[in-house]
Amino acid sequence: MAPHSTATSEDLAATAMEHKIAQQPSLSSNGHGNGHVQSGEDNLPALDASKLIYTFADTSVRSVPSEAEATSGNETICTDHMITAVWKAGAGWSAPELKPYGPLTLMPTASVLHYATECFEGLKVYRGHDGKLRLFRPDLNARRMLMSTLRISLPGFDPAELEKLIHALLAVDGPKWLPASRPGSFLYVRPAMIGTQPQLGVQAPKEALLFITASFMPRFDSPPGGMKLHTNPEDMIRAWVGGFGYAKVGANYGPSLLATNEARKRGFGQILWLYGEEKYCTEAGASNFFVVWRTKDGRRQLVTAPLDDKLILDGVTRRSVVELARERLGEELEVVERKYTIDEVIEADKEGRLIEAFAAGTAFFICPVSQIRHRDYDVNFPMVKGDSGQYTSMIKGWMYDIMYGNEQHPWGVVIDEKKQ
Ligand SMILES: *Cc1c(COP(=O)(O)O)cnc(C)c1O
Repeated sequence: MAPHSTATSEDLAATAMEHKIAQQPSLSSNGHGNGHVQSGEDNLPALDASKLIYTFADTSVRSVPSEAEATSGNETICTDHMITAVWKAGAGWSAPELKPYGPLTLMPTASVLHYATECFEGLKVYRGHDGKLRLFRPDLNARRMLMSTLRISLPGFDPAELEKLIHALLAVDGPKWLPASRPGSFLYVRPAMIGTQPQLGVQAPKEALLFITASFMPRFDSPPGGMKLHTNPEDMIRAWVGGFGYAKVGANYGPSLLATNEARKRGFGQILWLYGEEKYCTEAGASNFFVVWRTKDGRRQLVTAPLDDKLILDGVTRRSVVELARERLGEELEVVERKYTIDEVIEADKEGRLIEAFAAGTAFFICPVSQIRHRDYDVNFPMVKGDSGQYTSMIKGWMYDIMYGNEQHPWGVVIDEKKQ
């Protein structure tokens, strides 16, 4: 049991998670994350980035497309290399490999193809205006990946080792694919883990594959006129209390596409997912959602859904917005994490108290929201700064400066491009 266990034996998922987390030295209070920790209760080899085996691609074969070219087709364009690591029950983690980007081989009976034993992460690597290559708070992504992994009974690992593997991939592919001649651009880094055991039957997979790619991704953060959201249909929800909405598991996303596609046909960018009879505002598509309003007694507030009922994803962008706004806007704007309903938003609209709204996530960065359609009511948000609200654009600017090295900040983690 974890030393600070709060779950009772009736809380099966929480108990199981605490048990697993207690076995991950880097997540317990005195963990050092030194790469030599063992995976789980056994004495099998742990994931170890220092064992990385390099097999280089012929990098003269593919040239680097422009951002526009790379994002115009129907296929994600990845860099020259990827990283893979195999885990097997009874053998632990084998040495990770950096190798040419290419297809994976899976048996048709692989666990992931039937039981959705898949989870992923998404973070970006930024080419700074000072020429340096940076990640943004990658430690948070690595820890969240472990949490998602454990939630679907895939093997644990030391998050620090995942971080080192991400660094290794970008040290190799960064200089070519995100050249110093393209300051202000980014690549998208996608670590994922799947259950690969070729056996049908609902059980925890005894084989798994971790892989990491780096690719181009379109910019979504400034749709002309702002992003429009449509609330979910009455008969469809994204996540529920007791479910797994807080984990970045593939099973959360496939089933949401039906509603998203319908919204797109009507000219909306994303679904604003409401929850429960009260219709609490939770998330906008696969990003967190923020509203700025004036309270009835005239205070300015930045409001976003709370993490405590495990309904929403604990976004790195969300957390950073909350922290920056508390630190830098203190007196002027109160930051509140609480449940709030679409009816409160509509009421604020009718009373002229809405100031602005935005979606926040790695893919969407900080994306101004101009409208929410709920049933037959349209909430419109003022866009005072061109296609954005003033706080949205201020917070976005702060984040941008940290990501692209205009401001030296501990959240911006520099990649050593000479280290291979
Ligand atoms: C990934 C994701 C987010 C955003 O998280 P970031 O860490 O900021 O990228 C928000 N909501 C959902 C459902 C997500 O999948």
